[in-house]
Amino acid sequence: MTIDNFTRSRRLRRTSNIRKMVSETKVSVEDLIYPIFVTQGTGIKKEITNMPGQFHYSVDQLPEAIEEVVSLGIPAVMVFGIPGTKDLRGSGADDPEGIVQQGVRQIKKDFPDLTVITDVCLCQYTTDGHCGLVIEGEVVNDPSLERLASIAVSHAEAGADMVAPSEMMDGRVLWIRRGLDEAGYQNVAIMSYSVKYASSFYAPFRGAVNSAPSFGDRKTYQMDPGNRLEAKRQVAIDLEEGADILMVKPALSYLDIIRDVKGTAPLAAYHVSGEYAMFKLAAKNGLIDETAGMVEILTSIKRAGADLILTYFAKEMAEHLLKDSIGHSNNSTGDKLKITDNRINSTDHIKNCREFG
Ligand SMILES: [Zn+2]
Repeated sequence: MTIDNFTRSRRLRRTSNIRKMVSETKVSVEDLIYPIFVTQGTGIKKEITNMPGQFHYSVDQLPEAIEEVVSLGIPAVMVFGIPGTKDLRGSGADDPEGIVQQGVRQIKKDFPDLTVITDVCLCQYTTDGHCGLVIEGEVVNDPSLERLASIAVSHAEAGADMVAPSEMMDGRVLWIRRGLDEAGYQNVAIMSYSVKYASSFYAPFRGAVNSAPSFGDRKTYQMDPGNRLEAKRQVAIDLEEGADILMVKPALSYLDIIRDVKGTAPLAAYHVSGEYAMFKLAAKNGLIDETAGMVEILTSIKRAGADLILTYFAKEMAEHLLKDSIGHSNNSTGDKLKITDNRINSTDHIKNCREFG
């Protein structure tokens, strides 16, 4: 190599078209899972404090909310419930008339093709707000397993396609798999929160579902943020117990962990409420461009190795991807696609994309 003959990397950065052609990582709408909060009552669509743009929906408001998700081409939702009452054993969690069960039935009735995943945990439903049962001031592991299996089965009965245990009790995937199989739900998949850290970034979510623990913290069951090798062990355990999809949570401060545990099983990452909220606030205050920052964040999570991303940005990202592809199509093939009222007719979009090959 001489001073007149050095490598010109900038050739492939020259135009937007070329940059897209050689882009190594693209987030697509099929990667996105939208978390949605269902609450008791009727006529409720209430914005969640500290999670701008996210809402609590009563069951009767779900059809409209889910219609938007489906029209954007998002393939899956993760359902969280906010029950009306709580008790020591979290009875609302596996009640056939519980809030998640009602919500799942409503969603599957109107949108049978949408993949419905349910969060399996006790913390929203118990008076002490811990993710497992509490006996004499201690979060007990083994007595919690039966409750978790029962919750998973009741979600499957309501129509859930996948259940997602998030409570970090040992043995839960095994117990839930066995419970589902014995109840005849061999085809219901388990997306396990395999690697869930005791993170400060969950704070806005806890406010959203009113699940802050009444005593202590969650460090006796969630992982220490400094632990990397333990993440590999957790993933191996979950795979052995029968998990179909693994998850790392949170995503953004744990990109190295996502990369570490990426293996042959599908991997999800949860871009959590605190990560969402702090970025939203920065964007709202004009510190960062919201769309560009959102794309960069979600791309980084995918680049690290996530196949699926749970994110409160799912709708905005899907909308961005549709606009982007339409802009691209319009440039190359003329004005065949229409954007109306900032929203795209996804059926037309899919049809037209097929036409464009
Ligand atoms: Zn929990």
